[in-house]
Amino acid sequence: MLTAERPKTAPTRRETMLIGSEWLAAADGRTFFVENPAKRDSAIAEVPRAGAADVDRAAQAAAKAFETWRTTHWKDRARALYAIADGVEARLEELARTLSSETGNALRTITRAEVRGAVDTFRYFAGVASEVKGETVPLGPGLLSYTLREPFGVVGAIVPWNVPITISAWKIGPALATGNTIVLKPSADAPLAVLELARICAEHLPPGVLNVVTGLGEECGAAIAEHPLVRKLSFTGHTDTGRSVMRAAAERIVPVSLELGGKSPQIVFPDSNDDRSVDGVIAGMRFTRQGQSCTAGSRLFLHESIADDFLAKLAAKLSKLRIGDPLDETTDIGAIASKRQFEKVCGYIADGADQKGAKVIAGGTPPSRGPLAEGYFVQPTVIAHVANDWRIAREEVFGPVMVAIPWRDETDAIRMANDTHYGLAAYVWTRDIGRAIRTAHALDAGFVQVNQGGGQLPGQSYGGFKQSGIGREVSLEGMLESYTQRKAVTISLA
Ligand code: NAD
Repeated sequence: MLTAERPKTAPTRRETMLIGSEWLAAADGRTFFVENPAKRDSAIAEVPRAGAADVDRAAQAAAKAFETWRTTHWKDRARALYAIADGVEARLEELARTLSSETGNALRTITRAEVRGAVDTFRYFAGVASEVKGETVPLGPGLLSYTLREPFGVVGAIVPWNVPITISAWKIGPALATGNTIVLKPSADAPLAVLELARICAEHLPPGVLNVVTGLGEECGAAIAEHPLVRKLSFTGHTDTGRSVMRAAAERIVPVSLELGGKSPQIVFPDSNDDRSVDGVIAGMRFTRQGQSCTAGSRLFLHESIADDFLAKLAAKLSKLRIGDPLDETTDIGAIASKRQFEKVCGYIADGADQKGAKVIAGGTPPSRGPLAEGYFVQPTVIAHVANDWRIAREEVFGPVMVAIPWRDETDAIRMANDTHYGLAAYVWTRDIGRAIRTAHALDAGFVQVNQGGGQLPGQSYGGFKQSGIGREVSLEGMLESYTQRKAVTISLA
């Protein structure tokens, strides 16, 4: 949670941000506070509130660094990324604890794994840094024509609060491997672990190759999107914000990659009414990260013959998950990241539960008293007997809220699953291989999983269909598409 108001108890931690080789306050001295989602009204840090002047300095520093980084041998760029991976791995525990403190995500179930994901991402992109290759083009015997893949220059990267370290690594890794430099902005709700990551990166990179500015979206994020030296935008966040970043990119004709929201379906066939599928559905819904994941499988399409039984198993398993202090090793589910998000999630639960015929089979609106009321805690919530056109089934809640929708025939299940403006992820649960593949191919989603509810792994092209995004990331092809531009060179052999 962020606030510009000074909290009752001032935080002990005061941050600076990385511009060029310096760690700086905002040019105008403004700051904001990062609050603790697990304990209402307590701040954990005071952070620079960067404005247009700071973004300008960062963009200048990145443009200057680009002059040499673009021609730095790939072996040296790879070496830097490997060293960053080692540095992050060495400080895994510290980074994970910071992440838990600011995002509310549980240490044991989520944030350690997130830091490991960042380590894997840096190693992956170090490994493919040599793959920035072109093609030869057969234009005829008198001509030699070939293409080069060149970096854009300064990349403006804007990331959300839910997975700050890994998503930053998804952008820093490929941008730097291909010779670009970066101005990165973490979310004002969760900038602290990204600043720690920046300190590790700065130990292994020339000044200005990575700059991290902290600030609010409409001030600092918008200034990045509009800055004339930023030649490529890579944005991850809400679909509406993506739209405004794309508008800013359109003004300057700057390429833009967008990783946006989702309302992903999970289709369960009658042959999968078993514990393994129930566990997988829970994983796919990302209940242990409070559902705060773009790929959360939040629309559960259950065949009508198994619906009641499956829901009973689901509710029983969810009731065993322990909610509480994100830093406690016994906690499965931490807190919602901010007051704003908490209120939004509670509003959706109340709205969904109020619909005629809806049945809350797990969770519900959070308690207003007791230990859970001390922070922004929401129990895993499942609302059954929902229709696919209700608001709760159409809009991204971005909280631990799943809706269950019954179906009778396969075509209908697929039609309902695809009846959304999103198209990020999808999950299919069946033992029948033909049905699994048929369904996976019929779903409008950039990332389909069969009989598993895992997250994205480096090497796998990741991105959304429809309003879930444009472009691909987290892979060699994503790196080439999103962070390089082709140059054609043609030579007369006469
Ligand atoms: P958000 O769009 O509010 O913010 C994302 C980032 O954009 C933040 O750094 C924010 O400060 C910045 N921002 C806000 N307004 C801006 C503006 N006008 N110009 C430029 N930057 C601006 O999103 P959020 O609440 O931080 O994150 C949740 C959303 O992110 C969800 O919709 C989720 O699905 C999506 N998300 C998508 C992916 C993916 O890979 N597809 C991954 C994680 C999260």
